[in-house]
Amino acid sequence: MQFISRLDALTDWKVAGLGSRIGGNQRENFSTELVKLSSTRGEVTDYNSIFSLVRKAVKSTLNKERVGLGLALADLPSQLGAFWEVGGNYIVMNRNLLDALKFAHRPIDEINSFVFVILLHEYLHSLGVLDEYNARALTAKICATLFEEGHPAYEIGTKDPWQVYPFLTQVPSGRGENLRIIGNFDSDSVSYIM
Ligand SMILES: [Zn+2]
Repeated sequence: MQFISRLDALTDWKVAGLGSRIGGNQRENFSTELVKLSSTRGEVTDYNSIFSLVRKAVKSTLNKERVGLGLALADLPSQLGAFWEVGGNYIVMNRNLLDALKFAHRPIDEINSFVFVILLHEYLHSLGVLDEYNARALTAKICATLFEEGHPAYEIGTKDPWQVYPFLTQVPSGRGENLRIIGNFDSDSVSYIM
């Protein structure tokens, strides 16, 4: 089982952008799209659109993709953002962390960025980046490449999310209860690969 979990020793990651493949325009596009998502969807977390953006991010930086992944929410231990089981077709995100961010009235662009980073990390696992350190390093590089310093996706992606939001360590822990599949997740993969 692969997951994004809280690690304390991630303070000084060396982030070297993937640079040459990404132009300034494209960087602007990712920020704009995530902001647009934030302003048009209001309080609703649009997992589909965020995952579309994740797939685009990986395609444009690593030129890799896969389709057919589903998303579920469940109550997980507080140190888990999400997990993906090797060979599995579902990313399971920790509902308690998302609820805690909403309860703390974090702006919607921060919540979307948090979801973006968690899904990006798990998506990289599903593409074969099984090593935890490599998945984190790659997540950080992609976020640093696609977002400006100061953008929440840059901050969350290049740091430990539990450092950015220390209150997440206090969230109640679940053990996989209340599993709910998100409908229509990854529904545009067919048109995406055509
Ligand atoms: Zn992981």
